[in-house]
Amino acid sequence: MARELVDLRSETVTKPSAAMRQAMASAEVGDDCYAEDPTVARLEGMLADAFGFSAALYLPTGVMANHLALRLLAAPGQEVLCDADAHFLLYEDGALAWHAGIQTRTTLSSDGVVKPDDLRKMIRRPKPFSIGTTAVAVENTHNRSGGRIFPLPELQEIRKIADEGGIAVHCDGARIWNAHVRTGVSLEEYGRCFDTLSVCLSKGLGAPVGSVLLLDRSRLAEARVMKHRMGGGMRQAGIIAAAGIYAFENNIDRLAEDHEKARLVAEILRDAGIDVQEPETNMVLVPVDDPDWAVAACMEAGVRVSAISATEIRMVTHLDVSESDAKHAARVVSEVLCRL
Ligand SMILES: *Cc1c(COP(=O)(O)O)cnc(C)c1O
Repeated sequence: MARELVDLRSETVTKPSAAMRQAMASAEVGDDCYAEDPTVARLEGMLADAFGFSAALYLPTGVMANHLALRLLAAPGQEVLCDADAHFLLYEDGALAWHAGIQTRTTLSSDGVVKPDDLRKMIRRPKPFSIGTTAVAVENTHNRSGGRIFPLPELQEIRKIADEGGIAVHCDGARIWNAHVRTGVSLEEYGRCFDTLSVCLSKGLGAPVGSVLLLDRSRLAEARVMKHRMGGGMRQAGIIAAAGIYAFENNIDRLAEDHEKARLVAEILRDAGIDVQEPETNMVLVPVDDPDWAVAACMEAGVRVSAISATEIRMVTHLDVSESDAKHAARVVSEVLCRL
């Protein structure tokens, strides 16, 4: 029997399950631009509670969540520190520069983890000819470095340095669920480290759309204005927020299965002599000479992967790929790469 294409480009390719669609179909809705959608309010309340924040705002995308967060913490002409491979620098179309006029100053790290010592050196106070640092942004798990977990002690250290320096901390937590499941650190413990936190419901959790920005209640009114100003007002958004609630209630613990599948994929590649690092969560980065060729050759052989740098392709495990499909995909990719 011919297998269907196994799609490991990203967890964003997951489709809503029958049970999730059922929850969407029966969602109570209202006009969320008037803050009258009960399902959106319920989702926001659940996530605010879980992460220990006093408010939450449902948004269409993670890009908008990062953008609102950073624009809340820093005004045009102010400075945000982050690592050079931050998602909002690499994959968000320059949104921060385009919409907000915020200057970023980047640390260089091989693993996406902003080092506390670098941060200490980089924070600066405003003085003639020099703007001050207003915020620092971190990412957990770190996308570009292959789903790397930002260690809790270092996040806590960054929180401390930020407090001492009088700056705010934002976390792009699109995949913070994966870090939580892998480390056992509670969502609330992570939440304590940040002034703002963006989380995605449409990555590993499998909702068709939606992100949530966690923030302090004092910033909520301004954030709502910014959401609407950017065109993010979504009227009867309870239809999609219901998918987010379903994802939050049912699909967090099962991320451990995705991590196990990634581990198996890495093992098969390594057995074939390919030098891949042990994945920390649900992504495997595979070194190749020619990523575009590799993507096309894998596709031809029935496996979709993505090219993420001049020297790597990426395989992401998720809830729509079984363990047997993941292992099959790993064997196919091994064969393709070893044919060279
Ligand atoms: C996917 C992702 C985003 C953006 O989410 P969208 O919903 O696709 O806009 C932000 N940060 C990270 C780390 C991501 O992986």
